[in-house]
Amino acid sequence: YQGKRGTVDVVVYSGEGAGHPHQWLVVQAELRHALERDELILHYQPKVGVTDGDVHALEALVRWQHPQRGLVPPGDFLPAAEHSGLIVPLTEWVLRRALADQLGWTAAGQSWAVSVNVSARNLEAPGFPALVAALLAEAGTAPQRLVLEITETALAGDVETVERAIGEVAALGVGISIDDFGAGYTSLSHLRGLPVTEIKIDRAFVKDVADDPQSRAIVRSVIALAHGLGSRVTAEGVETAEVYRWLIEAGCDEAQGYLIGRPAPWPQVAPTFAVPTVI
Ligand code: C2E
Ligand code: CA
Ligand code: CA
Ligand code: CA
Repeated sequence: YQGKRGTVDVVVYSGEGAGHPHQWLVVQAELRHALERDELILHYQPKVGVTDGDVHALEALVRWQHPQRGLVPPGDFLPAAEHSGLIVPLTEWVLRRALADQLGWTAAGQSWAVSVNVSARNLEAPGFPALVAALLAEAGTAPQRLVLEITETALAGDVETVERAIGEVAALGVGISIDDFGAGYTSLSHLRGLPVTEIKIDRAFVKDVADDPQSRAIVRSVIALAHGLGSRVTAEGVETAEVYRWLIEAGCDEAQGYLIGRPAPWPQVAPTFAVPTVI
């Protein structure tokens, strides 16, 4: 099964049309159990500053450790979770676990932020900002060490409610990242007035910068746009040293991708960081 936009970690769950409505009821019932039985796990992928190569943050990426199917990638169950509303308790679980794991790396002397992906459903649900505040307080974590990644499509939901929720979470001091920038139905007006601290350029553009002038032009423009808005810019899906080198020269702030580190559970993820020496 090819996940959304072709990102695949482990190929195990090859049920025909896992993201198809017919499969959703089955997946929904199982997913409810998965939450109860604690079958979800988080993998973390590092995000590094391109100038110093230091790890700035770890992004939490959810997986389902299924008793029969093995490790199921998020693209196979998140559509059902979104459709059923289970994404709301699922995200709460992810936030709580990510903040707990972060306490682990803080104790190990690392000040890395943690990034958590949130869906439009979360931002539309009443009380989401209060939940984030409560979870931060519960963990004793400074809000600045949490970043919420929001895709452009989330911004296209109930715009007013979503924007209000984003504003409230940002007011706590939590970072706001626009994920997969450029991939969706980008409306630049969504950016106006949003307290964005980070823009992540979609892998679809990043992967081709080494040899495609159009991708290069787009990535350069997004870097300029992000900086013009006072936000930092991160390139996702960096797989080659060539791309990494180009991004440094283009003035990109941060990079993430298989070249730098693949997603893995904490604490196994830490020793796998292989930040390339690029000069
Ligand atoms: P995303 O937020 O854009 O995350 C990046 C995805 O690309 C991840 O796939 C990651 O494993 C993969 N990736 C990272 N570096 C590279 C690279 O260099 N090359 C390639 N080809 N792929 C790379 P993953 O873990 O399968 O997640 C897929 C999507 O599922 C995520 O895309 C995100 O939108 C969603 N997701 C994952 N975890 C959560 C979660 O806890 N909550 C929500 N709401 N969504 C999540
Ligand atoms: Ca993300
Ligand atoms: Ca992304
Ligand atoms: Ca992506």
